[in-house]
Amino acid sequence: MIQDGTFTLVYKDGSHFTFQVETCDKGTFAGRRIVSYLMGADNENDYAGLGFLNGSTVALWSKHKGTKLETRAAHLNILFGMPERLEAAGMDYALISGRCRRCHRKLTVPASIHRGYGPDCAGMAA
Ligand SMILES: [Zn+2]
Repeated sequence: MIQDGTFTLVYKDGSHFTFQVETCDKGTFAGRRIVSYLMGADNENDYAGLGFLNGSTVALWSKHKGTKLETRAAHLNILFGMPERLEAAGMDYALISGRCRRCHRKLTVPASIHRGYGPDCAGMAA
């Protein structure tokens, strides 16, 4: 089971791809899970939808087919099949951004940064 949260995939060349998994709780997509990606500099707001998450597979939205995002989605599908790598990507998000991987609040206490969650979210994630 893939938990909601934010993850950063670090490529060998040092580039990053940050993405988020969330379960919609209202609106047209209530109950569906959406994968979005960070497309700007604002770690809290600059996310755009990539596709639905069905089980552990990204169903890429058709507008992204044939773009670089199709390649990214293929990488995510590999990552989603490797729980330990996915966990590491969640930790990488927290370490690189200095933010909680669940709610995006800034992490100030070093112990929180090591776990990747702020104090409020650590209990929920455990
Ligand atoms: Zn949090």
